[in-house]
Amino acid sequence: MGLGAGNKTMKNTPKFTIVEETKHYVYIRDDGPWDKYPTITNRAEEVVEQLAPTLKGRRLFYMDSDETVDELRVDKNGKLAGFEPGGMEKLCSVCGKDIDEDDSANCITCGKTVCNSEDCSSNLRVIGGEETYCANCG
Ligand SMILES: [Zn+2]
Ligand SMILES: [Zn+2]
Repeated sequence: MGLGAGNKTMKNTPKFTIVEETKHYVYIRDDGPWDKYPTITNRAEEVVEQLAPTLKGRRLFYMDSDETVDELRVDKNGKLAGFEPGGMEKLCSVCGKDIDEDDSANCITCGKTVCNSEDCSSNLRVIGGEETYCANCG
């Protein structure tokens, strides 16, 4: 942005909308317009601090100004811990942890992508080597 004619007053904080909230994450979208508001990417620290009371330990994903979904890692003190590529599809639907692709599947009944880690109640059941059910369904 130049400083010439038409220079508008920049707001201090990004303008965003909470698109989705689940028990595992909060998903926000950067609304812009970015000639008036800074991007979430540029002000990630402030956005995380602003949302920390809402997160209550949940993970935070955002769609940036290029419509890419990434994660803002939040530490236990509610501060930005860094950026992580990838959206909510990398989470197990049951436990909300990162999925190891070799140890996950789509449950035939509920259709959710679930992991098979020992501390996850999704523990997969594979029937006939093909049909996969999570513990919630079958
Ligand atoms: Zn899981
Ligand atoms: Zn299921």
